[in-house]
Amino acid sequence: MDFMKPFRLHFAVFITMALYLLTFQVRAEPELSPVTIGIVADNAPYSSLGPGGLRGFSIDILEELSRTSGVEFEYRVGSWSEIYGAFLRGELDAVDEISWREDRADKMLFTRPYHLRHTVIMHDENRPLPTIETLSNLKGYRIGTLTDIYYAGILRESGLEIVEYGLQPDLVRALAFGWVDAIIGPEVTLRYMARQQGFVNIEPLAAAPLSGKETEDFRIAVHLDQPQLYQKLDEGLAAIDPHWIEALRERWQEFGGKALDNKTLKLTPAQQLTVRQQAPLRVGLMSDYAPLSFEDGGRVQGLSVDILTRVMDLTGLQATPVVDQWSVLIELLQQGEIDVIANISDLKERRSFTRFTQPFHHVPIVVFTRKPGFRLNSPDDFRGQKIAISTGIFYERKVRDLASEGVVSFDSQASMFRSLASGTVDLVLAALPNGNHWVRELGLTDVRIAGELSLPDVSGEDLRFGLRPELEPLVPIIDAALAAITPTEMRTIENRWLGAQLETNSAFTGFSAAEQDFLEIRNNSLSYCIHPDWMPLEGLDSKGQHQGLSATLLDIFSLRSGVAFNLRPTRHWRDSLAALKQGQCDLVPLIGRSEGQSEGLVLTSAFYTLPSIVLGRIEAPFISSLSDIDQHPIAIVRDSPLLSELRRSYPGLNLIEVDSETEGVQGLQRGEWYGYISTLATASQKLEDLGLADIRVIGRVPMDLELALATSATDQHLGTLMQKLVSSLSSEDLHRMDSEWRTVRLQQRVDYSLLWKILSVTAIVLFMLFYWNRKLGALNRELAAANERLAVTSTTDELTGLGNRTSFEQHYEACYQVCQRNGLSFMVAMMDADHFKQVNDRFGHAVGDECLRAISRTMREHFRRETDHLIRFGGEEFVIFAVANSPADAAERLETLRRGIEQLRVPTADGQEVRVSVSIGYCRLVPEIGQRSEQWLRMADRAVYEAKRKGRNRVVDAGKDVV
Ligand code: GH3
Ligand code: MG
Ligand code: MG
Repeated sequence: MDFMKPFRLHFAVFITMALYLLTFQVRAEPELSPVTIGIVADNAPYSSLGPGGLRGFSIDILEELSRTSGVEFEYRVGSWSEIYGAFLRGELDAVDEISWREDRADKMLFTRPYHLRHTVIMHDENRPLPTIETLSNLKGYRIGTLTDIYYAGILRESGLEIVEYGLQPDLVRALAFGWVDAIIGPEVTLRYMARQQGFVNIEPLAAAPLSGKETEDFRIAVHLDQPQLYQKLDEGLAAIDPHWIEALRERWQEFGGKALDNKTLKLTPAQQLTVRQQAPLRVGLMSDYAPLSFEDGGRVQGLSVDILTRVMDLTGLQATPVVDQWSVLIELLQQGEIDVIANISDLKERRSFTRFTQPFHHVPIVVFTRKPGFRLNSPDDFRGQKIAISTGIFYERKVRDLASEGVVSFDSQASMFRSLASGTVDLVLAALPNGNHWVRELGLTDVRIAGELSLPDVSGEDLRFGLRPELEPLVPIIDAALAAITPTEMRTIENRWLGAQLETNSAFTGFSAAEQDFLEIRNNSLSYCIHPDWMPLEGLDSKGQHQGLSATLLDIFSLRSGVAFNLRPTRHWRDSLAALKQGQCDLVPLIGRSEGQSEGLVLTSAFYTLPSIVLGRIEAPFISSLSDIDQHPIAIVRDSPLLSELRRSYPGLNLIEVDSETEGVQGLQRGEWYGYISTLATASQKLEDLGLADIRVIGRVPMDLELALATSATDQHLGTLMQKLVSSLSSEDLHRMDSEWRTVRLQQRVDYSLLWKILSVTAIVLFMLFYWNRKLGALNRELAAANERLAVTSTTDELTGLGNRTSFEQHYEACYQVCQRNGLSFMVAMMDADHFKQVNDRFGHAVGDECLRAISRTMREHFRRETDHLIRFGGEEFVIFAVANSPADAAERLETLRRGIEQLRVPTADGQEVRVSVSIGYCRLVPEIGQRSEQWLRMADRAVYEAKRKGRNRVVDAGKDVV
């Protein structure tokens, strides 16, 4: 088989089959004289003969025409010349898809046209062309057309640069791969081809100005001696609603003829049972397979994730994401540690451990390169090249067979493209949308597509879900759901992730000759100092490596310019500043602009802004202005860039200088000061590191921290070249830096306690930022009102300090629903003190109270996770509800609690010791859709009753031990 298949298999099928004249009988019942009509076999989407039979826009029209005219058709399928020849020889009654031409008019009768095919100029919305009014507007662009097309002469006369392609799919690919800037051809066909190949950004730009040759009319022709047939057909066409025809065209052009109406998913009762009994599926999703599946802002997202979500919605199955690199995920699947893997291609060697669903998307695999003029035409072209591929990708072995010595495999897509940028590899093999994503993301300007990888059995990547073999019964269920995603929904998803990304990186224009000389003397490397403890902006990790936002910043600069940046570690920020001033280091990557100015440093323009905030204890009310808290002590870090400005603008503030952020937030928690001023980024990180939860943002400081880069004054080139790099920062770069501190990564094995920590601390803080940035005033009013409402109804139980019934009401349903929505296990336990009446009777009510307090203290000791809720439900009854990681987790925690209570010795005034015990009933499961939270409480209650019946002082699982 050819290495570079010039066209896809089904085209080969078309053409082979077109050699024969195939007859199709559409109607079952025999007619007296069916009209034989010639149909073109390979003219998708109008008419084409494929595995599904003869299909297309024109075929649908003929069927409708048969209804409106009463004429029965018998289709004869072949190439255009075959059917046209047969018609002229009188072997056929009619011919379809024919244009009126003067030289044909005396040989046949033409019906009215049922379709006008326009010739258009199409472009790629990622590389848009300006408005085109005349052909000369296209000068300077490379224009693709079909070989020997009838308007080629007109194009050449206008002096355009024409590149010819033999087949329409190749024409579309040439545009998608950037080999030409525009293509000219028939609108419906090219649109259809682009859609079928997943190129969602190829759009018509304008009608091609071809002086009258830009439309083709589709008609039916009959012989001159058949005027009655002509009349029937022409009247029949007139009777077809033009709106219906228009909708039909759209359906074929955009969706390959699929029906658009909402399909509903129908599962058999057995399948419904399978779904209901299925525990949440652990679904492996790739962390860096953008735009198909990737992590951003702490969430995994992408085209595959949207499709997964749709499948879950449709079936009622539940998914828990496990986010990691491909090589890890595929191993987890083989070990049965995850249930499903997304974006897997069906390969023979994977069938032993995977059951595949139908594909939900196809992507071409292409070769990216920076070598000018390199084109991949045959396998020989791989020789002598260094080729980057993803570890474990399905074509790895085949590519290694071709070019073994030169193949390097990478664990991440980003590192593949970085190696291409740095010249470590010559070629990168990747799926087209992934590669395009990284080329944009890394701001690579000189990367081109050299060709498409097409090996025997490999023509693009088929993306499917793969399930572990035990879950085989789910495959038809997921397939049914995939089929029930309507074409319009699918299109929305595709446009969302594969659609045009117009925002391109602002180009880095390069350094001047003098700047290059300067860098050469410095061996292309510059030294820098940072603030060692200013995370997530910058800091040192346990190995002394630079981490944080400024590390990302310097990575971007380094990638863009080739300059290496070397850290000169310091103990304190002031040491870093001193080193910069004395010329012992070349730059500091991040400094507050106002601070830099007051220190007399050489600064670049400010490129990053951080919101400043006031933190307070959870009970402190929100403040609308800093002057509201004049009378209170407010802490701020001594070397904060905001300090001098605050002193100037708010002389009334009672500012207390502290040494570090840690001291600032800890003192706040101890109540040593009322508020603490910092930036949202650094404070939220610190709160998370220290696990402080009862601190929140209580106000905004109206002076944001503007960050710039400072260079040493030792050489003027330093300042100008760093300014060039700062100016090259695009909004995408800044977005990447944002995600540096807004992202909290999902752990490889989903760690719910962390997840919840994130939800409860970071999310609140981040959420507030977004609101503040948008509608500060409204939010403050709303929050203040909510705060007041909360203050009115107390939520704690006075005797024990646990939550009371009000608190139960507020949180129980919410916690239950979060678990239900996210497929997490929910646990609720009811606990009742044993023979408590006797305790009261023997030792008195006060001792009874003391026992209840002791019990609640023990509860608090054992249930201290953020997601644990402890409630005194009434009297000597308690409720615990929580997110439970595993059945064992719930059982063990309750059991140790029971033992802890059993070991309590509550002293009485007269020196005796009172012992208490409790009976606990619980249930723990993933809440099912439609199940209500009260049911759970009742089940737990029944389990308590069972525990009492069995002899008290024990834990009973409602799911296991109660019938
Ligand atoms: P068991 O639950 O094991 O069947 O026996 P019990 O003796 O605990 O039975 P029951 O639930 O009927 O009695 C609950 C008793 O708890 C009634 C009351 O004397 C006592 N009690 C309820 N609330 C309080 C309280 O706030 N303080 C004190 N000291 N005792 C309380
Ligand atoms: Mg009771
Ligand atoms: Mg009791």
